[in-house]
Amino acid sequence: MAKCANCGKGNIVGRSVTFSGKHNRRVFRVNLHTQWVPKGNILVKKQFCTKCLRLVKAANVPKQEVRTADANLAVAQWHG
Ligand SMILES: [Zn+2]
Repeated sequence: MAKCANCGKGNIVGRSVTFSGKHNRRVFRVNLHTQWVPKGNILVKKQFCTKCLRLVKAANVPKQEVRTADANLAVAQWHG
């Protein structure tokens, strides 16, 4: 079954209610996305829900740190 690798969130069962009040069982699917994450020296694919994906992407930031450092340098040069 599809589950988030971080929080374990998965599909849940609920009911949809029609205008006439009829209840039908339905599945609320979790919004999972695949992301490469470091595990030791290698990268592995894992599935995360969108909420956890934001945390994972924020944690894997070496490229962004370089980018912001470059941006700060460019700003400093621009202002003399
Ligand atoms: Zn999650």
